[in-house]
Amino acid sequence: MTALAIAPRSAIAGPRLAVDLAAVAANTRLFTRRTPGEVIAVVKADAFGHGAAGVARTALANGAVRLGVTSLEEALALRTAGLDAPVLSWLNVVDADWATAVAGDVEVAVPSRDHLEAIVHATTRARIHLHLDTGMARDGAAPTEWAALCRAARLAERRGLLQVVGVMGHLGCADDPADACNATGRTRFAWGLQVALDAGLRPQQRHLAATAATLTDPRTHHTMSRIGAGLVGIDPTRTTDLHPALTLTAPLVGVRSVRAGTGVGYGHTWVAPAATRLGLLPVGYADGLPRASSGRAEVLVRGRRRPLVGRISMDMAVVDLGDESVTGGETVTIFGPGHDGEPTVREWAEWSETIEHEIVTGLGARLHRTTLAATTPALRSL
Ligand SMILES: *Cc1c(COP(=O)(O)O)cnc(C)c1O
Repeated sequence: MTALAIAPRSAIAGPRLAVDLAAVAANTRLFTRRTPGEVIAVVKADAFGHGAAGVARTALANGAVRLGVTSLEEALALRTAGLDAPVLSWLNVVDADWATAVAGDVEVAVPSRDHLEAIVHATTRARIHLHLDTGMARDGAAPTEWAALCRAARLAERRGLLQVVGVMGHLGCADDPADACNATGRTRFAWGLQVALDAGLRPQQRHLAATAATLTDPRTHHTMSRIGAGLVGIDPTRTTDLHPALTLTAPLVGVRSVRAGTGVGYGHTWVAPAATRLGLLPVGYADGLPRASSGRAEVLVRGRRRPLVGRISMDMAVVDLGDESVTGGETVTIFGPGHDGEPTVREWAEWSETIEHEIVTGLGARLHRTTLAATTPALRSL
């Protein structure tokens, strides 16, 4: 055999991140049942670390009809990967390459008159979504600028310089349906749509809801929902059983016995209270295991939870194996869907005092990724 045959084998001897596209398929179908509107699959940040092209293809095969990303670069990468579904890109600087966006058949969100002017200057065929700030003081046009933006867009449309195909907003507190900020956002979006209509615009796509609002508040659905986190099994509202799609495993590099009083790792933040056996895992914060979870995190070893001890360092972590007679080379599960008792991404988020989104988007580039294909929808029971 050639060296080429050896390379993959040595590569998979280390930590492995498996992406289960069947989970993405099931999640997508759940969202298409939750709303009568369209589902736009949000695959920004490499589909939350799950692989943009694979997640996009899977979502489109299971009921999503459009794709959404932040930057034009992400949108064009989808085109390069061979995806030809409608794509919306919503976060770009004023002097972005609008002509290339149009050439790539990418729809773009417009949060300001400066953006509108730059787009009209660069191309006459843009399909745009006007973006209203519905209460985050972040992206989107401020309400005070909305009417002028709508009028300017309508004027450009009448001159044949662009087409306004959508109006979008985004909710800042939708993970807590009881928060009053949601009603404010809904009201502001309804007002924004009316202003757009009054200006003579007829946006076919009207979208406010992301994962959380789609799951908890039908009043936010309008004609479509932008679903990102939910596709990969993250439910910020904790109301719905979604399917997590990632499993991270790593082999033990070695196992050693230590005496009571042995300090472990940088700073000796953990000292063995009794004689024990320690296993070394070749994953650390460079791979996305937050250092902030040190002292709390656990892994699954031979079907049992075992604590990581001492500080998680850049490239490695140490697990207290207790009396488990594990040997080097055995595989340990760092997180997974949780079906077999392994920790979940949600637990890792809690241990690190962050959200699941940050864990999955922070996984390191050197993890060996494998993708488990979704079977075709026709073969799967719904
Ligand atoms: C990321 C993002 C989404 C997707 O949100 P999820 O909660 O992950 O579904 C939708 N809209 C905008 C503007 C976003 O930035």
